[in-house]
Amino acid sequence: MILGLVTLENNQKELKTISSFVQKLKEEINKEAELWVFNFEFFNNFENFDNYIEQNKNLLSSFDKIINFKVLFEAGEGAAATDVYIPEIIENILLKEKINEFEYIVSVGDIIFSEVIPFVGARFNGSIVTQVEGIDENLLFLTPSFGGKCISYFKPAKKPVFITIRSFDYEIKEGNKIPEVNSKEVEIKSYDIELIDRVKQEEGVKLEEARIVVSGGRGVGGKEGFELIKKVASLLGASIGASRAAVDAGWIDPQYQVGQTGKTVSPDLYIAVGISGASQHIAGMNKSKFVVSVNTDPDAPIFNYSNIGIIHDYKEFLTEFIKLLEVSN
Ligand SMILES: Cc1cc2nc3c(=O)[nH]c(=O)nc-3n(C[C@H](O)[C@H](O)[C@H](O)COP(=O)(O)OP(=O)(O)OC[C@H]3O[C@@H](n4cnc5c(N)ncnc54)[C@H](O)[C@@H]3O)c2cc1C
Repeated sequence: MILGLVTLENNQKELKTISSFVQKLKEEINKEAELWVFNFEFFNNFENFDNYIEQNKNLLSSFDKIINFKVLFEAGEGAAATDVYIPEIIENILLKEKINEFEYIVSVGDIIFSEVIPFVGARFNGSIVTQVEGIDENLLFLTPSFGGKCISYFKPAKKPVFITIRSFDYEIKEGNKIPEVNSKEVEIKSYDIELIDRVKQEEGVKLEEARIVVSGGRGVGGKEGFELIKKVASLLGASIGASRAAVDAGWIDPQYQVGQTGKTVSPDLYIAVGISGASQHIAGMNKSKFVVSVNTDPDAPIFNYSNIGIIHDYKEFLTEFIKLLEVSN
C-alpha cells in the first residue's frame, strides 16, 4: 500500500504533484493508495472539507481512500493555538499511527514535509529518498545532483520507503470512482510552547507560486539594494527571492532563499540581480522558463543559464528599469 501525506495548506500544484507521482507508483507496483489530509482545527478549515474534496476531485482520483485527519488542539498555558510547530505535531501523530505498515510513504518536499519525512523515516528505520523527480521501470527513484547537471538513481534498501517529491508531472487518469472519504480525529493536548519570537510573513506573491521572481544576491550590496529589488517586484506583480549569500548577510529573510537549501521555483520569468550562479543557487531556479541576469562580471556563471544577460551595474539598471515600469503602469 502507498500512503500520501498532505496538509490542507498544500496548494493545487502540490496536490497534482503528489497525485501524479502516486498514479505512476501505483502503475509500477499495482497496489492501492491512501491519502491522509492533515486538517488543523486552528486554521478553521474543518467545515470546508467537503468543498476541498469537490474542488480537487480530479487531482485526488489517484487515491482509493482519503482520510480527513482532524487535528484538535488544546494550547498550553500562555500560548495561542496558532503558536504551534506543525512539523512536530505531524511527526508525533505519524509515530503513533504505525505508518510502517505502508510500503511507500510519499509527500511533496515542502517546508513541512521536508522536515517530517526524514525524521519519521529514521524513526521507523525505513529508506529515505528526498527531492525525487522521477521513477524508472526498475523502481529506482531519480533525483537531481550537482544543481541538476546529473541525475542520481536510488534503489531503496528496505521498506518502508519514505519519499519527498521535488517535482513530478505525469498524466493523472481521472477515474469514475470517487475515493472513499473517512474522518479521524486526533487530539493534541497541553502542548507547552515557549514563544521566542513572532515573525510576520511579508505580504505579496508567494515565492513558490510566483510567475515572476526577482532575486537579489551579494552583488546588491546590502538592505538598500533589496529595496530596489522589492520595488521592481511590486511593479511586476512578482515575488522577491534571494541567494544564500544575501540571506546569510541578514539583508533578507531566509524564507526568500532560492536554491538547494532554500526554495525551488519554476516561474515564467526569473530575474537574477547580482547573483553569480553557484550550482547550489541554480538547483533552485533551473526550471525557470526565461531567465534574465544582471551582473557586472561578463564571466559570471549565471549567464550560462540566462536567456538574456545584462552586463551592467545593478543599481543603474534597476533605477532605469523602475522608471520604465512606472511609465508603463
Ligand atoms: C551545502 C551548501 C548549500 C547551499 N545552498 C545554497 C542555496 O540554497 N542558495 C544559494 O543561493 N546558495 C547556496 N549556497 C551558497 C552558494 O555556494 C554561493 O555561495 C551563493 O549562492 C553565492 O551567492 P551570490 O551569488 O549572491 O554571491 P556571489 O557568489 O558573491 O556573487 C555576487 C555576484 O554579484 C556580482 N556583482 C557585484 N557587484 C555588482 C553590481 N554592482 N551589479 C551587478 N552585479 C554585481 C558579482 O560579479 C558576482 O557575480 C550553498 C552552499 C553550500 C555549500
